Amino acid sequence: MPTTSELSSRAHATVSEARRLFDSGATRPLAARVRRLRALRAMLTDNEHDFEAALWSDLHKGSGEAQLTEIGVTLAEIDHTLRHLRRWARPRRGPVPASLRPARARLVPEPLGVVLVLAPWNYPVQLLLDPLAGVLAAGNTAVLKPSELTPATSALIARLVPRYFPDGSVSVVEGGVPETTELLAQRFDHIVFTGSGAVGRIVMRAAAEHLTPVTLELGGKSPVWFDDDAQLHRAARRIAWAKYTNAGQTCIAPDYVMTTPDRIPALVEALKVAIADLWGSDPATGPDYGRIVNERQFDRLVGLLDGTDVVVGGDHDRAERYIAPTVVVAPSGDEPPAVGPEAAHPVLREEIFGPVLPIVPVASAEQAIGVINGWDKPLALYVFTSSARTRRLFEQNTSSGAVVHDAGLVHAAATGLPFGGVGASGMGAYHGAYSWRTFSHLKPVLRKPLAPDTLRLAQPPFTDRGLRL
Ligand code: NAD
Repeated sequence: MPTTSELSSRAHATVSEARRLFDSGATRPLAARVRRLRALRAMLTDNEHDFEAALWSDLHKGSGEAQLTEIGVTLAEIDHTLRHLRRWARPRRGPVPASLRPARARLVPEPLGVVLVLAPWNYPVQLLLDPLAGVLAAGNTAVLKPSELTPATSALIARLVPRYFPDGSVSVVEGGVPETTELLAQRFDHIVFTGSGAVGRIVMRAAAEHLTPVTLELGGKSPVWFDDDAQLHRAARRIAWAKYTNAGQTCIAPDYVMTTPDRIPALVEALKVAIADLWGSDPATGPDYGRIVNERQFDRLVGLLDGTDVVVGGDHDRAERYIAPTVVVAPSGDEPPAVGPEAAHPVLREEIFGPVLPIVPVASAEQAIGVINGWDKPLALYVFTSSARTRRLFEQNTSSGAVVHDAGLVHAAATGLPFGGVGASGMGAYHGAYSWRTFSHLKPVLRKPLAPDTLRLAQPPFTDRGLRL
């Protein structure tokens, strides 16, 4: 075990090296950015099978899901960035008010410097390398800290990065809390953190010491509204897919479903059919259903089932870290039901982050909106209805990182849209142009020619009339 002072000097050396390279200007030219994005792309495509194997070992992620949600989505982000980078990076003309003319202004994007990327375990490739694409596109150097809870993926990335970025423009620090703590003591120019709100607060506090800006991609309880007029089987299949992909360990997974009491039996049946259709009658034996990341999370999730009415699934196996796709009818007892710190049961108090889906009976869409607004702003809100009026009702009367109608998760794959939370679900956003913008400083550069010297009008001695800008 390295001592704290060893960790501290290693963290210092890593960041100093990244800063030295950034200060040399080597990462700034557009051609250098494109080269690094291509290197990132090659790192993924040349080693696809190793990435798949690591994801299988860490999370039992099948190759189809690994391709779709980790490798494919990251490649799509890199390709989108390569396609648009030239346009994003071009200086643009800035407006100058008549009172300052003659003058010319431009907005010149410049990189920030050294960016720290702290990633969680649930999508250990995507959530580390997708932000990295934006960091490199903007001309920065990067320090990556993969999650220690997905050791195979972390080790693979630590082994590959020096091969694909031999100049040190990207470096990897492996480890957990002690390593991250020492990294956070260093001065970065931006930190992008994906993880829990609790650690997000630690990151933001550490960043404040250096006035380092942060992007925080956090979590929370993302609700679903399942309307009486929603198409039962199609909607249930989409909810099931969004919920149980990666065994529910997705920050934007539907956390709970609200629907009217009369609709519950039909929804439960439709979810049962959808689960069997997607993962077979025994998901434990299929190749496509994931496992819980570790025993701690497994025990927490099984504990959440206590005192609930399990209507689908519920079986689990600790040795395998397997929990079946599970639906419970939430014990609320409250009218209207509470979701948040005041809720009657932990399944409605905590972010579930696993394959347990509570159904919460509510009287109406308006009451569902009241439940959503009763607590932290969620990362995503999913609405299943065939009524445009109801869609508008949710859009206009709630606040969340994103709203998706008639589907779940898919907005994360829309590279042109900003991805991020609001309030407790995070701050800042990334993906595509929004990543590039997050990791650049848009610097106004203004030239006011010395002649004609109209600035004299703004200088003393002032006349009685003064000057109005
Ligand atoms: P986490 O907050 O425990 O860990 C995230 C990172 O922080 C890891 O790299 C970890 O090593 C580091 N870390 C943990 N404890 C630390 C400490 N005390 N000091 C410094 N660093 C520390 O999160 P997690 O369990 O890996 O992921 C689950 C959470 O992440 C959920 O809340 C989920 O909603 C959220 N999440 C959000 C998004 C998003 O895009 N918004 C995506 C995935 C996950």
